[in-house]
Amino acid sequence: MRRKIAAGNWKMNMTPTQAVALIEKLKPLVKSDDVDVIFCVPAIDIPAAMTAAEGSNIRIGAENMYFEEKGAFTGEISPEMLVDAGVKYVIIGHSERRDYFGETNEDVNRKVLKAFEHGITPIMCCGESLTMRQQGVTMDWIRQQVKVGLLNVSAEQASSMIIAYEPIWAIDTGETATSDQAEEVCKGIRDLVEELYDKAVADKIRILYGGSVNAGNAAELFGKDNIDGGLVGGASLKEDFGKIVNYR
Ligand code: PEP
Repeated sequence: MRRKIAAGNWKMNMTPTQAVALIEKLKPLVKSDDVDVIFCVPAIDIPAAMTAAEGSNIRIGAENMYFEEKGAFTGEISPEMLVDAGVKYVIIGHSERRDYFGETNEDVNRKVLKAFEHGITPIMCCGESLTMRQQGVTMDWIRQQVKVGLLNVSAEQASSMIIAYEPIWAIDTGETATSDQAEEVCKGIRDLVEELYDKAVADKIRILYGGSVNAGNAAELFGKDNIDGGLVGGASLKEDFGKIVNYR
């Protein structure tokens, strides 16, 4: 049995002061014995968020990380910086990073490998645009993103990582993929992982759905066989996130 995950992606929201207030408010609401709760927060919020989350079941993750160790990369955050701050999870290849900051599948792969080198669990994102879905190439696109993202990732590493399927047309739009659409792609990703590795890895890897997950649709989405929880944007900044964690 794979443990479910409710991961929040705060995006570019919340100052450090606001982050502490939000965590204090959500702490009692996101308590759970059987769901892993991760808050991926802006880099500048990480130290304050770590302190605020101490003693709770909330794990603090990052939203991005660079693939180099250190040096002349102004504005980037290194894996060592995240590790030193106590970070165990990092979102990699979110569609907003790909669209606005030009991240390629190859960059994503380098980041995934670098995260593993430092003992950080990557939450690797993939997802198709509306045009791709309308043209019937969703699975071809997703397979390419996931295949390149997993290049040189060992079976042991793949077993421990998290993939988030996030159709771009459903992110921040209020438009959710139906639970059947989400399940179909998440199953397709699991089948691909079995092709690339074996059934044991495919059974262990956790695959999330993301795209306008809210308190009203989480139970149906998370109830699907191949959906191991959600990567949640907007609703992770609200009390709703407690209901998503406790979706049952
Ligand atoms: C996201 O940013 O990963 C996301 C899924 O956003 P939202 O839940 O707001 O659609």
